[in-house]
Amino acid sequence: MPDPVPDPTDTPRTRTAEEETARATEALTATATQLRERGQAAGGTAAEVLDALAMMAEDPSLATDVQQRIEKGATAEFAIFAAMDAFRELLAGMGGYLGERAGDLGDVARRAIARLQGLPAPGVPESEHPFILVARDLAPADTATLDLDHVLALVTTEGGPTSHTAILAREKGITAIVGALQAAELNDGDLVLVDAENGTIELDPPQERIDLAVQRTATLQAIRAASSGPGHLADGHAVPLLANIGSPESAREAAARGAEGVGLFRTEVLFLGAEKAPSVEEQAATYREVFANFPRQKVVVRVLDAGADKPLAFLTDAGEENPALGRRGLRALAAHEEVLRDQLTALAQAAEGGEAEVQVMAPMVSTAQEARYFRDLAHELGIRVAGVMVEVPSCAIMADHVVPNADFVSIGTNDLTQYVFAADRLLGSVAGFQNPWHPAVLRLIQQVGVAGAEHGVPVGICGEAAADPLLAVVLVGLGATTLSMSSTSIADVRAEIAQYTLDEARALAAIAVAADSAEAARDAVAAAADELDPVEAP
Ligand code: PEP
Ligand code: MG
Repeated sequence: MPDPVPDPTDTPRTRTAEEETARATEALTATATQLRERGQAAGGTAAEVLDALAMMAEDPSLATDVQQRIEKGATAEFAIFAAMDAFRELLAGMGGYLGERAGDLGDVARRAIARLQGLPAPGVPESEHPFILVARDLAPADTATLDLDHVLALVTTEGGPTSHTAILAREKGITAIVGALQAAELNDGDLVLVDAENGTIELDPPQERIDLAVQRTATLQAIRAASSGPGHLADGHAVPLLANIGSPESAREAAARGAEGVGLFRTEVLFLGAEKAPSVEEQAATYREVFANFPRQKVVVRVLDAGADKPLAFLTDAGEENPALGRRGLRALAAHEEVLRDQLTALAQAAEGGEAEVQVMAPMVSTAQEARYFRDLAHELGIRVAGVMVEVPSCAIMADHVVPNADFVSIGTNDLTQYVFAADRLLGSVAGFQNPWHPAVLRLIQQVGVAGAEHGVPVGICGEAAADPLLAVVLVGLGATTLSMSSTSIADVRAEIAQYTLDEARALAAIAVAADSAEAARDAVAAAADELDPVEAP
């Protein structure tokens, strides 16, 4: 996608510093308003994302930097460009979640500069006919408002799986591949087949491949539309399909999309910007709002998972050299037990008198002793059901000792995969390792599944792996009793698991764990699944 707003250069200016400052302030304020309006029109996560960007445009320290640059002789255009660039570098240097937000700032700057120069705001080109959108990266403001009647698929050459483009595309149900370097070779007018499930882009596919893809898409859509209600296998074995949420807003959306409850409520997301720990009352009010969406349904709340890409000023040590391996998750909470006690108290209060079945779990548990510590404390403070997340390999390896110390366990495949492979889950250059199909990950999950079955302790899955329909079948075969995912994936997973019996799921799981790579596992399972039950319209 061409960039219609050229970067300004540091040219001499003709206006006074006061005039330039007024222009810059107007452009940034108008950009913030524009972003908020787009967010409100799109709703959901898009509203949250664009609101956050609008706040960046209005950031007082950014305004000060712009003004200082103007006072030194810059034009409003160049001052905004340079100040945003400095801001972007600062964020990028932090890496992880905040680092990925850095790319979004470029779009904020271009919008403000376009306004100053009387150019149209950058955006997606208009087209009369449906097309596949290929871009270096797409700004959240554009992803959020894509016209789904025209954009058949989205491919970007930059961005990781947790970039806002990826998150919003998932939420809108757009076929999307991010970080596909080979897409840089594509030209306007090329005929391309995009298979997001397998992450492939095929140039000039033969007609029979196109026919097959069109037919498969139609069949899957029909299956999806026909699937509703609780998740179950073909033999009636129930597999509750739960949602991953991070706010009251996403709780409402999950309930509307037919989630049978919540399998992961990421509470730390609520407090990412907070300087000090939230009060019991403040927390209880937000939790009540979330719980109200799920009467007589399970809501699994994760206590604050601070650290690495989700630092919380009141829990994490900003000076750690390697925060992904540092005092994070339950370790940070145990070191600030008053924060943990307050959160458990707030959760117990919010659960009291409500209809949701509230359960609480701890993140980043690595030993049986930590599991016991958490369960004892949670029970003491009025939480009836307290479990642990299995996302550190030691916890899975010692599952037979961890599981008896938990009322339930929930496997976080995102972190489990990153720690199994010692590969940062947010780093593009090692993204190839972040594949939960790998038998190294699946074997650990199996160990937890076996321990759960032996001790009668439920085993949930709440990482992104559960959102992959075929992998979901394998996970059930490995012993998962519930699956939790972003709510947009529930319909697909529900439709897929309904095609296999528990015995078949177990047979597919056995095939997967015996393979020697992620790709081999996936291919072998896909081939065996096709033989069992080729996709047929209902
Ligand atoms: C996980 O690690 O798989 C998980 C669900 O937690 P998060 O993605 O929030 O780290
Ligand atoms: Mg995790």
